[in-house]
Amino acid sequence: MPQANMRSTTKRSSSTRTKVNNFLAQTVIDALSPHVCILNKAGDILLVNQAWRNFYDTNSTVLIIDDYFIGTNYFKLLRQSEMTDSDEVDHLAEGALQVILRKLDEFSMQYSFHSPIQKHWFTVHITRFKNDNEHLLLTHENITEFKLTEEKLSRTAKVFSHAREGIMITDSAGSIIDVNDAFSKITGYSRSESVGKNPRFLGSGRQSSSFYKDMWHEIIRNGYWVGEVWNRRKSGEVYAEIETISSVCDPDGKIQNFVALFTDITRIKNYQSQLEQIAHYDALTQLPNRTLLLDRLAQTLLQSQRNKKSVAIVFLDLDGFKAVNDTHGHAVGDKLLITMSNRMKDTLREGDTLARFGGDEFVAVLADLDKVHSCKPLLERLLQAASAPVFVDNLMLNVTASLGVTIFPEDNVNADMLLRHADQAMYTAKGQGKNRYHLFHTAQDIVLKTHRERLEAARVALTKNQFVLFYQPIVDMMLGKVISVEALLRWQHPERGLLLPIEIPPLIEDTPLSLELGEWILNSALTQIKQWQSEGLDIHVSVNISALQLQQKNFTSRLAEILSSHPEVESHCLELEVMENAAFNDLEQVTSVIQDCLDMGIQFALDDFGTGYSSLTYLRVLPATSVKIDQRFIANMLTDPNDQAIVEGVIGLSKAFKCQVIAEGVETTEQAKALLEMGCNLAQGYAITQPMPASDIPAWIKSWRPDATWQT
Ligand code: C2E
Ligand code: MG
Ligand code: MG
Repeated sequence: MPQANMRSTTKRSSSTRTKVNNFLAQTVIDALSPHVCILNKAGDILLVNQAWRNFYDTNSTVLIIDDYFIGTNYFKLLRQSEMTDSDEVDHLAEGALQVILRKLDEFSMQYSFHSPIQKHWFTVHITRFKNDNEHLLLTHENITEFKLTEEKLSRTAKVFSHAREGIMITDSAGSIIDVNDAFSKITGYSRSESVGKNPRFLGSGRQSSSFYKDMWHEIIRNGYWVGEVWNRRKSGEVYAEIETISSVCDPDGKIQNFVALFTDITRIKNYQSQLEQIAHYDALTQLPNRTLLLDRLAQTLLQSQRNKKSVAIVFLDLDGFKAVNDTHGHAVGDKLLITMSNRMKDTLREGDTLARFGGDEFVAVLADLDKVHSCKPLLERLLQAASAPVFVDNLMLNVTASLGVTIFPEDNVNADMLLRHADQAMYTAKGQGKNRYHLFHTAQDIVLKTHRERLEAARVALTKNQFVLFYQPIVDMMLGKVISVEALLRWQHPERGLLLPIEIPPLIEDTPLSLELGEWILNSALTQIKQWQSEGLDIHVSVNISALQLQQKNFTSRLAEILSSHPEVESHCLELEVMENAAFNDLEQVTSVIQDCLDMGIQFALDDFGTGYSSLTYLRVLPATSVKIDQRFIANMLTDPNDQAIVEGVIGLSKAFKCQVIAEGVETTEQAKALLEMGCNLAQGYAITQPMPASDIPAWIKSWRPDATWQT
């Protein structure tokens, strides 16, 4: 028994020892932080530590009851759990086999474990025990945190290196410690060329030192700054970037780094400035356009008020440019304009502006003038620059310029009006013979202003029926007979009384009003003829027609219409007078108009004969029925032998051309007598009577007797 006891004691003590050993081993491995697991050579789990158990407790989908693992095949367990890629399990099993087969002393690998909660990474290490071919020791180290940090870092690194923005990191002292690829791409400087340098080496010099001072002030105060910066690439090219600079602080709030992120916006900037160019500059000459000029002019005016200086506004129009364009084509014209612009610009001082207003019109703004006259040399230089010949495509082109100038603040109006005044003065320069400048005078403006006002008043007069016709008889001095009356325009002005027409026809000449008035006169005269007829007076009426009215395309048809609207009046009662000195653009057309009138039965007189340059031509060409000798010759014929000769000549010629001849402005009996002697019987003038209202005509005609002395 004792032996048996002893044996049994020995047995008991050895099993106790094993239990103790196992317990010790368990306690030791439970104290280890890596997951530890002992497998047999078939891969079945013999022992796991607490860390391993805990991990599976929290991360496995499989319900773990105490020693559930024990006896389970480790690799099968991994596969079943489907939380590790099967490739990785295969690799791990293969490694274990290699160690068991003593082909490897140990094996380690990293594998991942996708628990429903999170992804874990482990480094698994497999070894044998010393002198033991039966067991494997597996330790897992959880490297998830390390892996996550690594992933994060690599992501950051990827962002850093793949970012399209240039990134530059400096230390707190401002030395570059890292830059990314985009930085190198944008700046042209590699990482090694940049690291260690201060970002100042990229400076273009376009920003002032105060710009950088403000920028740093803001970074320190707010922790960041955003703005546009012009820098210089390694190639020397200046580029624009939009940049964000942020400071990075340590947990104590001390600045550790500055990170600058920037994007190259040169293309956007170029596009912007292109748009600006289009909006503010003339495409052909690259000179400022009207918009930019108005802007600069407004600024210059303000500045001149502060500095107590004058500004000259010069409106410049090329003379003869249209001919160049018409003869040689637009391409040549364009080249001429470019050369001209450059030349004229060169004559100006810095601070002056030359702009193109379109076509061959330019405007120069000459600033900072001490006196009105100090702009004169500049104007002379502009004229010279414009008049020097220009060579284009082997052609020598000659143009000149007409300049209109107004001076601010002498001409104290706004920018818009200044330009208008300069423009008006330019027209005066043209009218005075071109290739010169003309200074705008405020007085001149007043004339123009009153002209405008008068024109408006005349328009109102017509609508308000303030015009009336007076009539002046034309008589045969020999027979003592009234042959016709001339209708003469008067303005019954509500305040100024009866006004003579001297002001009116020239005032409204070249305006549509003159045509309207012309038709009104014709209608009134025809109405008057009818009125007299109804009073038993049958008389012819002469109506004055302006050259403009006569040269209207539809003159004859309008005249016919007017006549047909007075059917009671026969056309032979009407005579038209047109001034002989009128400028007829197309003599052939005028001839045919007069002929048409004659065909309608209307008589035609050449008024104020002898005053024009082409009297003889007109007399020869125009089929007029009468000629009215201008009153200036009549007035002087008794004292001036030349005038007498002219009067005699006109009388002779008229007779030769079978025209009636009428003397105008006969004021004295002597004149009447002399005219009769020369063979001119028909006359009109104060010696006979002044023009009178229509209502006075019948009684006057009835009572009129020729002066008895005329015939003697
Ligand atoms: P006109 O057609 O040669 O008219 C004659 C002008 O001589 C009239 O001036 C008349 O009053 C003036 N007169 C007549 N006798 C004498 C005289 O003995 N001595 C002087 N010094 N002058 C005399 P009025 O009415 O002032 O007209 C001036 C001009 O205005 C006219 O010259 C004519 O060219 C234009 N005119 C007048 N009425 C009309 C009209 O209805 N239509 C157009 N288009 N022009 C008109
Ligand atoms: Mg007349
Ligand atoms: Mg006349």
